[in-house]
Amino acid sequence: MSENNPLLQRYDLPPFSAIRAEHLIPAVQAIIAESRVMTTEIIASQKPFPTWDDLVLAIDELEARLDGTLTILQLLGSTRIAPAWQEAISRCQELAEQYKSEQAQNSELYQLYRRLADSPIAALFNEERKRALYKILRKYHLAGLDLSSEQQLQLTSLNMEISKFQFEFLARVEDSNTAWSKHIEDRSLLIGLPNAVQARMEAAAQAAGLTGWLLTLSAQSYRDIVTYADNRDLRREMMAAYYSRASGTGPDDLITNNERVLTVLLDDRHKKAQLLGYSNFAQLAVADQMADTTEQVVDFLHHQIELSRSLFAQDAEQVESFAAQHGITDVKPWDIHYVAEKIRQDVAGISQEAFRNYFPLETVLQRLCAFTKTLFGVDLIEHAAADTWHEDVRVFELREYAEPIGYLFINPYRRQEAAGLGDALGLRNRRITAEGRPRSPLAVLNSRLQPPTDTQPCLLDHLQLRVLLHEFGHCLQHLLTAAPYRAISGIGQLSHDSSEFVSQVLEQFCFKQSFLIWLSGHFQTGQPLPDDIAYRVKRFVHTQTSWETASLLLTGLVDFELHRTYGDGRTPHDVFTSVNAEVGLLQWPGDTRPVNSFEPLVSDYGARTYSYKWSGVLARQAFERFEREGLFNPATGKAFRDAFITLGDTRPLMTSLELFLGRS
Ligand SMILES: [Zn+2]
Repeated sequence: MSENNPLLQRYDLPPFSAIRAEHLIPAVQAIIAESRVMTTEIIASQKPFPTWDDLVLAIDELEARLDGTLTILQLLGSTRIAPAWQEAISRCQELAEQYKSEQAQNSELYQLYRRLADSPIAALFNEERKRALYKILRKYHLAGLDLSSEQQLQLTSLNMEISKFQFEFLARVEDSNTAWSKHIEDRSLLIGLPNAVQARMEAAAQAAGLTGWLLTLSAQSYRDIVTYADNRDLRREMMAAYYSRASGTGPDDLITNNERVLTVLLDDRHKKAQLLGYSNFAQLAVADQMADTTEQVVDFLHHQIELSRSLFAQDAEQVESFAAQHGITDVKPWDIHYVAEKIRQDVAGISQEAFRNYFPLETVLQRLCAFTKTLFGVDLIEHAAADTWHEDVRVFELREYAEPIGYLFINPYRRQEAAGLGDALGLRNRRITAEGRPRSPLAVLNSRLQPPTDTQPCLLDHLQLRVLLHEFGHCLQHLLTAAPYRAISGIGQLSHDSSEFVSQVLEQFCFKQSFLIWLSGHFQTGQPLPDDIAYRVKRFVHTQTSWETASLLLTGLVDFELHRTYGDGRTPHDVFTSVNAEVGLLQWPGDTRPVNSFEPLVSDYGARTYSYKWSGVLARQAFERFEREGLFNPATGKAFRDAFITLGDTRPLMTSLELFLGRS
């Protein structure tokens, strides 16, 4: 079997199309079995005298193989929905999970790493090795290996409960999403919705075997309705449904309501943090971030709220008066996004539709490749025949000085109702093997755009462009690093503030008129975005920004305070209410419970959602250098890459920023 199993062969790019469902379990079983044997051998041979190559790099090799295989499975699982695939994939995930938690508890291995770190040789290690070793030791510390065996058992059971409750939280949100939809057959209800939005809803109806249009509770569908629908009742109904998810009251309370799940989850996280020597989970969460203390984070967020107050007041006032002029005298929560969008259109004299025509995906991708070449000196060359997990996925080879340095997979289109507008993931981290061979990094960019139709290519609005640049930034950070070890070379290894920082610098380009013009090309005429429209777009995106700012601050602070102040007797909804009052801008339909469906809370971003705002502020400071020296200035691009990308996770972000901005 193993000689025919493509997952067990050596490959540079994954052999996606050769993989069958029946290959998965045997491959993962074989990889785990081999890893187990090899680990035992490594431990035995390293006991007398642990070394970098034969301990760190040897274990790295084993972990890279298993993790790479799991990511391939994850990608395949996004398009192969047949039960044979899905069942095999979840079985493989279970097996890997089990093996990894066993490895995380391997105290013999941990002792070898510690002995290496304490040895005289380690004092001579370069910064990269020191940092990689520190991170490996930290992982074992957080897995509880410095605790007594009784405490270790407690930690294991807390970790199991935490993943169980995180899963339950998401499952309840998902159940609420599935339970609600609105089928519309009367077109007049859709007045105000752009054609692209109507087309999406029509496609959703067709997928459900219906005529007309179907509204769902996906984030995209929610945003579309509250932003564009002229029908006020529809907006109200949508907003109430969206923020009541996982908030059922009544006899089914325990099965559908997330408040209790959240409370237990917070309790477990709190206990876990205390077991590991922290006073609360927020303190544990910032330990690997740029902030030194939890107070620093809270002060930062409060300061940002204060800085935003006058703009909040101005924008709210503008909404009130604009609404009144158009017959809405009592502005309700479900009117705000709608009126704000009308103001943007009014101020700029333009709609998103006029903008999109200048940004067909094909042109944008070509220009992004040229942008990467100009700024970082790297070629992106498309490989039309490369093997992928879906026919829409495109593969680009990155070359520097004619040498291949990595591959970027771009998965452009939304296929099902997936959450979010896009994401990026590392399929393989860059590393140098013990034999000195570089393994090139692989990154995946998922952007969930509307596929082309018979008459129109895929066109991007400003938000989609921003998201594309953001995720492209994550991928560049993953692909352009020179860091030689897995622990410091991939986006998955970076602290959240560092990884979001580079992406948010890339986003900043989308707010520059000259960059937008350069990126554009009308889908019919090929003409660049006219100056006049570019200017209007700039006004458009700088109008009524308070709502986005406020919601970023609110979610960051709610998430942080839930973890930091846990145990003070307040319920999650109490914390939400008090932070919301402090931000003082956003309104919610009466009895809704937004916190019950706030997904970042239960992700890896738990207590770290604030890092978006944190790194956003730093990103704007860094971007000023591009504004001064030129958006397409290769010297600035090189300085940026050297400061923030080349070293991976070797140096603190603040040090890099000081170097880049030439200040201390
Ligand atoms: Zn991001």
